[in-house]
Amino acid sequence: MIAVREALSIGREQLTKKGVINSLFEAKLLIKNILKVSDEDLIFTSEVFLSESQFKTFQSFLERRKKSEPIAYILNKKEFWKDYFYVNNSTLIPRPDSEIIIEMVLNLIPNKDKKLKFVDLGTGSGCLIISLLKEYKYSDGVGIDNSKEAIKVAEKNKNILTNNGRLSFKLADFVTFNTTEFDVIVCNPPYVNKNDIKNMQKDVTCYEPHQAIFADEEGFIYYKKIIRNLNNNHKCGQKVLFEIGLGQAEVVTNMLKSNDFRLIHVKDDIAGIPRCIVAEKI
Ligand code: GLN
Repeated sequence: MIAVREALSIGREQLTKKGVINSLFEAKLLIKNILKVSDEDLIFTSEVFLSESQFKTFQSFLERRKKSEPIAYILNKKEFWKDYFYVNNSTLIPRPDSEIIIEMVLNLIPNKDKKLKFVDLGTGSGCLIISLLKEYKYSDGVGIDNSKEAIKVAEKNKNILTNNGRLSFKLADFVTFNTTEFDVIVCNPPYVNKNDIKNMQKDVTCYEPHQAIFADEEGFIYYKKIIRNLNNNHKCGQKVLFEIGLGQAEVVTNMLKSNDFRLIHVKDDIAGIPRCIVAEKI
């Protein structure tokens, strides 16, 4: 029988050997989830023995992590904004950077009691639209994705919202979806230039869905198509918030301006990279 303390040291050693930087942190995360204990409780369980099946699960998790599988897929969950979301490899893992979209909507519309219509183009796990509707409790929302498997994941996350009758997920092309009726459009499209794949971590390139990450035309094709579609299906005063990648702010801003959007703000992430563009339809 193996005690938690010993299991952690085995885990740490194995992960370190494979080049995992936060090996102890990650081993702890895996154990905490197997034992279903909090951070504080882990300290008190260090001498507790793992059952045979718990240790087997731990070993299988370690094997997966040693092959670079992201922890979020191993545990089938990722924290975003104020909740934990179910995730599997059909959707992008929600990133802390994308929380800027939620912050910017809150800055733009401080009255959370407003009745608004939100749409999330390329909803993936549904993390954006669910977090928004949790803040704006009288508003409605639709999440669009062109992957059937992603929609299944988003549907599973729907119960994060208590009154979830106001949210629907639709399998549809997020590039041609009719957006006229919506007040706020949020979108974190695939935006990574395909040529950048060689500089990316194996955790991402070998596990996360490429169709949620990569975009043709140096990463701009979806912005181009979506902004054109927004212009064709618009309502004046609509607010649009895009997540953008490194070095994309100027091009996307120009696309918006030439399609009759007024730029409201470009917000940097914590690394100082412009990450979110906020605009309004004029
Ligand atoms: N909207 C989801 C997110 O922000 C998925 C985005 C995507 O798949 N590109 O995580």
